[in-house]
Amino acid sequence: MIISMVSRATQKEVEYVCNKIKSFGYTAHPIQGEERVVIGAVGDGKEKDHIISVMESVPGVESVIPISQPFKLVGKELKKEKTVIQMDDFSIGGDEFVVMAGPCSVEFREQLFTTAENVKAAGAKVLRGGAYKPRTSPYDFQGLEEEGLKILAEARERTGLKIITEIISTENVELVNEYTDIFQVGARNMQNFALLKKLGKTKRPVLLKRGLMATLKEFLMSAEYIVSQGNPEVILCERGIRTFETYTRNTLDISAVPALHCLSHLPVIVDPSHGTGKRPLIAPVSNAAVAAGADGLLVEVHPKPEEAFSDGAQSLLPSEFQELMDGVRKYVSVDGRKL
Ligand code: PEP
Ligand code: MN
Repeated sequence: MIISMVSRATQKEVEYVCNKIKSFGYTAHPIQGEERVVIGAVGDGKEKDHIISVMESVPGVESVIPISQPFKLVGKELKKEKTVIQMDDFSIGGDEFVVMAGPCSVEFREQLFTTAENVKAAGAKVLRGGAYKPRTSPYDFQGLEEEGLKILAEARERTGLKIITEIISTENVELVNEYTDIFQVGARNMQNFALLKKLGKTKRPVLLKRGLMATLKEFLMSAEYIVSQGNPEVILCERGIRTFETYTRNTLDISAVPALHCLSHLPVIVDPSHGTGKRPLIAPVSNAAVAAGADGLLVEVHPKPEEAFSDGAQSLLPSEFQELMDGVRKYVSVDGRKL
């Protein structure tokens, strides 16, 4: 339920409401809005009517409204303003369009450093690179693990770019947390609930990819797992879903972008690389993502795609990435945003 406080409510009154809610076995999630504090109260729904009538009579409470959607905290019902994730000198979800780019996997120091310098020069703000790779075949390259994390951290030192890397297991949360700026949860782990809960206890933004077969509701329920544990900084990423079409690697659901913005206050970014699997399609789909209102992109770039350990066929050369950015920049400015 959504408990709206009167605009002049005191801190003490807000605390009282939160404690009262907890006494019913609910969790309280206060959100400071522009005018007033709104408290999201989430529980099992038992005795809801009774709790609503009690809460309505608590001093400082203006109104109590049940939340109809199952995703309580990430939905628009509770919070209308978009979530903006501040990353030192830029932010995700506000009026900036943020591009994250880099190789599918971290392979060698030189490979990552060259890519990092190139994507930075083209305007990317975040360097991507997998150190733990969730591969379909156990015989394929599985990632450099901690060595890869160290190389990523060194690339951050050299360039000032933030880094994002995939976390594939609960066992590695502490270790990856020591290195990364943003956790990436891949499509295959979208419903790894133990992992989501653990990431919900960290203080780092989590980029959550849509599962291969996930509906938008399932996707938002996974985001809810993270936020309900206390971490509000989740970025949703549309990366294509599996359909009958085989020409493209996945079918990028462009309508997911405005749909997620209708349903949720979280930032939404698009991964045109996994979404299409084909180099020539990546720039046009990136432009479409801007037009659909996406908050950014996650793009694979490799200095020698033909030698890449993973996803070479969908990796752009640095020069192609520069062209993509030049194109995207025009659409972003038409939209009144900046890149
Ligand atoms: C990746 O980003 O390299 C990746 C494995 O993506 P996804 O989880 O979308 O397949
Ligand atoms: Mn990849």
